[in-house]
Amino acid sequence: MKYYSTNNRTLFTTLKDAVLTGLATDNGLYMPERIPVLPAEFFRGLHEMDFKEIATAVAAPFTGDEIPEEELRRIVTHTLQFDAPLVNVEDNVSALELFHGPTMAFKDFGARFMSQLLRYFAAQINREIVILVATSGDTGSAVANGFLNVPGIRVIVLYPSGKVSEIQEKQFTTLGGNVVALEVEGTFDDCQRLVKTAFLDPALREQYFLTSANSINIARLIPQSFYYFQAYARRNRRDRNVIFSVPSGNFGNLTAGLFAKRMGLPVTRFVAATNINDVVPQYLVNGVMKPRPSVQTLSNAMDVGNPSNFARIMDLYNSDIDAVRKDIAGYSFTDEETRTTIKKVADATGYVLDPHGAIGYLGLKKILAESGADENGIFLGTAHPAKFKDVVEDVLGRTIPLPETLENFVRGHKQTVPVSSDYDDFKIELEEQLG
Ligand SMILES: *Cc1c(COP(=O)(O)O)cnc(C)c1O
Repeated sequence: MKYYSTNNRTLFTTLKDAVLTGLATDNGLYMPERIPVLPAEFFRGLHEMDFKEIATAVAAPFTGDEIPEEELRRIVTHTLQFDAPLVNVEDNVSALELFHGPTMAFKDFGARFMSQLLRYFAAQINREIVILVATSGDTGSAVANGFLNVPGIRVIVLYPSGKVSEIQEKQFTTLGGNVVALEVEGTFDDCQRLVKTAFLDPALREQYFLTSANSINIARLIPQSFYYFQAYARRNRRDRNVIFSVPSGNFGNLTAGLFAKRMGLPVTRFVAATNINDVVPQYLVNGVMKPRPSVQTLSNAMDVGNPSNFARIMDLYNSDIDAVRKDIAGYSFTDEETRTTIKKVADATGYVLDPHGAIGYLGLKKILAESGADENGIFLGTAHPAKFKDVVEDVLGRTIPLPETLENFVRGHKQTVPVSSDYDDFKIELEEQLG
């Protein structure tokens, strides 16, 4: 399988190059040359396969002859050390819980799979790879945990001092091993500027093989398709029509769902469910994409004003808005609706949503109400409610228990290297750390 840039469909590269570089040289996002359609016998046998078997079959056409089958099995096994259960919430509504990994959010799938691809390719190029990642919270923890102690890889996380929650901070500052946390005296924008400057610094690039592991990497997208198949396999087989509602920010998760549909998964429709950062739902109404600065909300991992994977969606549909509308409905919801929903669903069913999942749930209810027919809906639960303890407890008026995974982080000892937001200071410290 070859990969092209969304900015130039005639320039192809290997999976290895796409994964190692992340972004194409023309700043486009990498796309597979075609979306492989899985054979009918795969779908017939789907409900009898376990998650790892499903994932291996889904990934194989994307990794092609660049990764031997045995190696791919090992990569998938390492990635899926936790399940993605489908939990019934109420009639016709189930949650696909993607938060049982080490940082209790769905980004664990992408980060773990990518770490294993990078490990494999790092060995081929015979160089140590340095991951530089700026984070305002969740990305840093998924990447740091996903790459923890992966041979041939060092991880440097930059984060703004005092500007991430304690639990988020503990998830990437307590790990040790090959992970170093640089605590930047500045803002998240300062962290991003330092990383961008480092990538453009010829002296650094000469010395180290730098890569970003950010969410646009195709290696993070591929594994996000796995769980759509898994959910379909685990659903009640009497349910014919399946709708997926995806709480979205950069639209990686939704794009992976669209890949799954193109691969043959019988999904009736998708819901692009957003908070008030609603540029995609607006695009579906007006036919124009108007990026704008993001606004802070309770579902802060979806506070995105210019979704990076929109370019991939346009590429998949040749920018044909009517074709996009056939597959995707867009709805947005306010913080007030998010809070009311968390409370209402907990009272009625006992199921506790996090603010992101609540938006997915709302999107699903809306489309089910509009379509009426015998549709069956699944929304993606992208984070464990305890990750947003403050909001959830405030809404419910009671405490919710901290799962052991998060408890262990909280008990950990924070270790960081303080740096100023000045590039030269940062560079000296970086070189000191990397040796
Ligand atoms: C990143 C994230 C999202 C948004 O996912 P995208 O793929 O960027 O659309 C939703 N929920 C949570 C909890 C996240 O961390």
